[in-house]
Amino acid sequence: MKFETRAIHVGEEPNLKPGGSGDVAHPIHLASTFARAKVDEPTGGYEYARTANPTRDALEKRLAALEDGQYAVAFASGLAAETSLILALVKAGGHIVAFDDLYGGTRRLFAQIFEPNYNITTTFVDARDPGNVAQAIQENTQLIWMETPTNPLLKLCDIQAIAGIAREHGIPMVVDNTFASPYFQNPLALGADLVLHSTTKYINGHSDSVGGAIITNNAAFYESLKFVQNAAGAILSPFDSFLILRGSKTLAVRMERHQHNAMTIARFLEQHPRVKQVLYPGLPSHPQHELAKTQMRGFGGMVSFELDGTLENAKRFVETVRYFALAESLGGVESLIELPAIMTHASVPPEVRRELGIADGLIRISVGIENVDDLLEDLENAFNKAF
Ligand SMILES: *Cc1c(COP(=O)(O)O)cnc(C)c1O
Repeated sequence: MKFETRAIHVGEEPNLKPGGSGDVAHPIHLASTFARAKVDEPTGGYEYARTANPTRDALEKRLAALEDGQYAVAFASGLAAETSLILALVKAGGHIVAFDDLYGGTRRLFAQIFEPNYNITTTFVDARDPGNVAQAIQENTQLIWMETPTNPLLKLCDIQAIAGIAREHGIPMVVDNTFASPYFQNPLALGADLVLHSTTKYINGHSDSVGGAIITNNAAFYESLKFVQNAAGAILSPFDSFLILRGSKTLAVRMERHQHNAMTIARFLEQHPRVKQVLYPGLPSHPQHELAKTQMRGFGGMVSFELDGTLENAKRFVETVRYFALAESLGGVESLIELPAIMTHASVPPEVRRELGIADGLIRISVGIENVDDLLEDLENAFNKAF
């Protein structure tokens, strides 16, 4: 089965057995507990809905199929998936090597929860050079944590090269694949042990559900994650499972349009006199465009750019646009715009922001699937009003 077919059919095969209702769309099972006929045998294989629920099971099958993996575990949010992953794989006193341009919330989780409370330390490295990852590995390193492309600077890391280093040291490697989506990049196929998604973003794609998931081919990791899912309880609800099942069916067609619009806008911005710099892995000017071409099948819908102006100009710009909602998050059908230094990355200390290259005038857009001519007109108008 090809990607588009898996995205529609896996997990939602109609039940045509006698007594099966044949639903083409998977029903939302709301029961918190499931009755059994005999003490020793749960009747339909279900006992209590935290442990397993038919709607979540259907979604987990779908999510595994999207990454061409064997197992998936769904959680209440991307961050719940991250927390559960650390609980499953890292012991107190352990160490993580991570990309230095991670999602802000991931950084906060490491720095403000796991380090002070459990002495799990993290070394942040510029993973654009895989040698920096190898160099940061310590005796107590228990996890390598990558994200590519990163947020908001669209930096890439070489998944295959870093997976090789991880394997050499016997350390599991996870890739947060939220930005690329499984349609454009599959880290498991490149050697990663685990893939993490905030399904809140492209996989659901409609800005109406918060969720997260981890996909793996490793049965032991899956068992640990399933145990934590039940024992720590950060589960995805049946209704969110349904929404994500529904959203994921159109992932392929949405990603094609996201990418088409993003590419068109990136080119428009690149030739604009008021723009200092455009960051989009699909542009030949992106310093890692060649790597993007080898490990991704497409470049996604996220574009960051720096205005040739002041913070005031940038603020006016993001407040002037009509179709780009001034909001955090990404990956929905509607276009969004934000100022990382003030919004999504405000929790990153200013000196770290400067070091990473998150300038005050940096604008991040999540390009939606509206008609791109309307989006271009909207941006042109914002340039005129902002300066
Ligand atoms: C949003 C996001 C997360 C966190 O996911 P939530 O669903 O908001 O908890 C993690 N990683 C990346 C790259 C994200 O964009």
